[in-house]
Amino acid sequence: VLQVRDLVKRYGTHTVLNGIDLDVAEHEVVVLIGSSGSGKSTLLRCVNLLEELDDGQIVLDGVDISDPRANPDHARRNMGIVFQAFNLFPHLNVLDNVTLAPKVVHKVPEAQARDRAVELLAKVGLADKAQAYPDRLSGGQQQRVAIARALAYDPRLLLLDEITSALDPELVGEVLALVRELAAGGTTLLMATHEMGFAKQVADRVCFLDGGALIESGPPSQILEDPRHPRTQQFLSRII
Ligand code: ATP
Ligand code: MG
Repeated sequence: VLQVRDLVKRYGTHTVLNGIDLDVAEHEVVVLIGSSGSGKSTLLRCVNLLEELDDGQIVLDGVDISDPRANPDHARRNMGIVFQAFNLFPHLNVLDNVTLAPKVVHKVPEAQARDRAVELLAKVGLADKAQAYPDRLSGGQQQRVAIARALAYDPRLLLLDEITSALDPELVGEVLALVRELAAGGTTLLMATHEMGFAKQVADRVCFLDGGALIESGPPSQILEDPRHPRTQQFLSRII
């Protein structure tokens, strides 16, 4: 589904991503780990074209979306992203939050966008909250709405950036359960997380980033329990 080739991203003179190569296959769940500042969010933002690349390529379903001549619609339609901070539109109710982009950006007819939103809200366990405004929802509920919104046009790839780290501990479980369900249902996922236990359960592959480089990647049992690279060992020993 996704190929990242030799991705370089700099902010001024600071090289934040230094030649990242990463593939995500269909139905695969790839988890990015690494200390704060290692470049996980920047990588996800580059993949989603929220940042300009300094070098390299992002290929989605065979289309080089990082090519300035590429049609940005291909990337927008085929990727969803959810961030750490709930960024629902506060002045729109839950249903309108989910239907806005399909209606406005993708010109999906109202009734069709609505039907799909109702379906998605049921999937994330919030069928009864369609008319509620974001400020009446818990953090976990808001994050589940954000996931429903990101799924609105069946993205080929869903990007999740630390989606539980702003939540109260008792709300983390419901959001992780939803991600687990998506993974089991075959959604292709590329996610950054600090939840190592969760990574171990859902990841097909774990990638360790350090200082903007992809140091080591492999099945969770290997990377999390028997890392080869000293940097990975050091990182894991610090957080456990
Ligand atoms: P965390 O685990 O804390 O979320 P991260 O791995 O997601 O960290 P990034 O947010 O990708 O790390 O940041 C990587 C580096 O890029 C950091 O050194 C950060 O200071 C820098 N950086 C990120 N965004 C910008 C920006 N807009 N301008 C300048 N530097 C930035
Ligand atoms: Mg981050």
